[in-house]
Amino acid sequence: MSAETGLIKARGARIELAQVRKRFADSVAVDDVSLVVEPGEFMTLLGPSGSGKTTTLNIIAGFTPATSGTLTIGGTQVQHLPPHRRDIGMVFQHYALFPHMTVAENVAFPLKQRKVPRARRAEMVEAALETVRLGGHGHRRPRELSGGQQQRVALARAVVYEPSVLLMDEPLGALDRKLRESLQLEIKRVHREVGSTFVFVTHDQEEALVLSDRIAVFDHGRIQQVGTASELYERPRSLFVAGFLGESSTVRGRVEPDGDGSRLSVGEHTVRARGRLARGSAAAVVVRPEHLRVQPAAQSVDPGVNALPARVVQEIYLGSGRKLGLVLRDGTELVAREQADRLSGVRCGDDVTVVWDVERGVLLDDSSGSTHPPTDGDRSPVAAEKSER
Ligand code: ATP
Repeated sequence: MSAETGLIKARGARIELAQVRKRFADSVAVDDVSLVVEPGEFMTLLGPSGSGKTTTLNIIAGFTPATSGTLTIGGTQVQHLPPHRRDIGMVFQHYALFPHMTVAENVAFPLKQRKVPRARRAEMVEAALETVRLGGHGHRRPRELSGGQQQRVALARAVVYEPSVLLMDEPLGALDRKLRESLQLEIKRVHREVGSTFVFVTHDQEEALVLSDRIAVFDHGRIQQVGTASELYERPRSLFVAGFLGESSTVRGRVEPDGDGSRLSVGEHTVRARGRLARGSAAAVVVRPEHLRVQPAAQSVDPGVNALPARVVQEIYLGSGRKLGLVLRDGTELVAREQADRLSGVRCGDDVTVVWDVERGVLLDDSSGSTHPPTDGDRSPVAAEKSER
């Protein structure tokens, strides 16, 4: 038993999807998805609306049959097993609690179905309610609880029978921002304590960054990249992933090989980057805001760094520093973030030079045109920040 929760710590199962595809009458929702989730891992499926996250989760749960491909949980092929024989727990956005039952009866429900003896049931229900910090609330009805508390009950009901896999579909989607943030920390703690393998669906990149061991980024039914938050942030493999996770500036141009790196002609300027792409192909260099530095146009530029002339068009106070919106001569928008103790002194309207170290830029293929995500990425980073304030 876990000393912290009184629940027996579950052994997380390994989940493996191999070339899984789901075709509906008029669309392919999941297209050749292969993914391994390690035992006890917290994996988030992240992507814009309609990208195939829920369908993938429902295939793992057994609610939606895959059109082709294989699915193994804990080493057993399960695609022919019904949901209740897969040893999974499930939490949805809408809590799906039984309104006529008390909290304790709701949490006991899956134990009753599994014919757990009454005395043991009571112990397990209390332990699960303690785990979600609702000890002593067992006698209440769901309507007597807040939205956040109801979702905790749903979580308790999902972990009470110690499933080896816990699947969660936008479980915090109906809650306000503050409550979401506190429940994210609760879910992270519960994950540590119960030991099950968690697969969590969200379209909220911040939520994914807070919670996950690894994140699988979905777009158009396909996984674009799987990695830890820092791998995806520092080394995105596509413009889509770079745009979906965090803020970035994108400079576009044509590629010329240059030693073991590449040169990119951007108008009359040249930008260098690590990595190689085919000569003459359309490419982009992506730089995160904290790696862009801004200096007065008259100041000389250190040798070996990338430098482009720009104008400051926006200045946003962030408390911990400030964010600058910049525009290149061709209209490309960039965003730089400066720490409070390292302010450059430039102001809105100033002509400046934007500089960054060559190794801070990520060279990406841009041959398929703009692949910005259809959510916040379509707005300029500066505009996105402004509208949130
Ligand atoms: P959201 O964040 O909006 O829930 P999602 O990434 O979870 O989106 P899915 O719900 O998996 O996306 O849907 C993927 C695609 O499959 C969408 O184009 C959707 O319209 C389609 N789809 C999903 N379920 C069905 C269904 N039962 N019948 C037909 N098409 C469906």
